[in-house]
Amino acid sequence: MPASSALERFLRYAAIETTSKPDCEKTPSTESQFDLANLLVAELRELGLNDANVDAHCYVTATLPTSCENAAANGETDVANGGKEIPVVGFLAHLDTSPDASGKNVKPQVIRHTSGTIPLPCGGAIEEDAALRQCRGHEIVISDGSTLLGADDKAGIAAIMAAVELLIREKKKHGIIRIGFTPDEEVGAGTAYFDIEKFGVKYAYTVDGEIPGELNKETFTAKSATLKIIGKEIHPGSAKNAMVNAARIAAEFVAATPRDQAPETTENYEPYLHPYAISGDVGEAKVRMLLRSFNDGEMQKLEETVRGLVAKLSDDFPKAKLELTITEQYRNMGEKLADFPEALTKLEEAVRRAGVIPVWKPIRGGTDGSRLTEMGLPTPNIYTGGHNFHSRTEWLSVDYLEKTVETLVQLAVVFAE
Ligand SMILES: [Zn+2]
Repeated sequence: MPASSALERFLRYAAIETTSKPDCEKTPSTESQFDLANLLVAELRELGLNDANVDAHCYVTATLPTSCENAAANGETDVANGGKEIPVVGFLAHLDTSPDASGKNVKPQVIRHTSGTIPLPCGGAIEEDAALRQCRGHEIVISDGSTLLGADDKAGIAAIMAAVELLIREKKKHGIIRIGFTPDEEVGAGTAYFDIEKFGVKYAYTVDGEIPGELNKETFTAKSATLKIIGKEIHPGSAKNAMVNAARIAAEFVAATPRDQAPETTENYEPYLHPYAISGDVGEAKVRMLLRSFNDGEMQKLEETVRGLVAKLSDDFPKAKLELTITEQYRNMGEKLADFPEALTKLEEAVRRAGVIPVWKPIRGGTDGSRLTEMGLPTPNIYTGGHNFHSRTEWLSVDYLEKTVETLVQLAVVFAE
């Protein structure tokens, strides 16, 4: 397959600031996400997707009509030649970039990676880890080192746009493809206003992963917890038997959490309990933590650990008041996706046709797909060719980006066969 427009598109999209903002009441969390959304609507219309549109919450949607004759105009399924039903499939990517690193004035640079560390123009360097070593000889896109690159997830957007262009230009046989670009994924609000019914697809695919071949059908099951401790403030000079130090209790709680079940000591399918913020003083303190596991049994054990620690501290400090709240965040999409084998086998086939070996890898995090799958829309995740996301050392392999484009083209084709 000849090189697509993905790189040219990516460079254009990466230059637009779309950093999202945490703890924001409104969607999108930042107005600048509309700058990219509006550009994409214009480009989709240029490609002939006439219904391309952005709504008030910055969700971009568009429809690539089927190229098969005798197909239904629109809807859940589309009847092609011979009466075979072609499922309507959706391609999704997110518009925003992570607030973990600056996304202002991103200046993407294309270099040829030979070997070793890649120095960044504004200082710092990208170490050659196993993923970068695989890309010796590739064209690589990097930032100038003062910002993130935004391959997460503008590489996904560029790949989808380029795939749509190729499907049209090469007159491939495909069913109805729906396109969705969503805001605020990085701040956990990417699906807040996503209208599954209106999107009207049988399966969706987020294009928001890393190295080609790596596909994701499993994510963490995630809960967050807050421990609020009310102590008693009193002058330290006359504190004996009267002061209750909430700060001390918070510290004892964190110290008592199992060190071998922390993010820094676990990998693959291992669960963790992560006390990530501690704040307060004698009168009141808070510990905030994340609970992550791949199954309900382990999640229950993590919860029991937390409750056990809280109970023990309540006994040790009877005059303190300890309040624990545990909130569900998202669920492992693996269980539900298992009910839709077609969504996975077609993807594997498309990956192979793109010349890549499919490998299913669990994500130690969540995706928009975790929530969409839970809401009833099966949504596995596909690679983009990017790496070191959310940082100034983020990079994107152009060769791999092309593999992503080809995978998407093949996926549309496979569903129409
Ligand atoms: Zn992402």
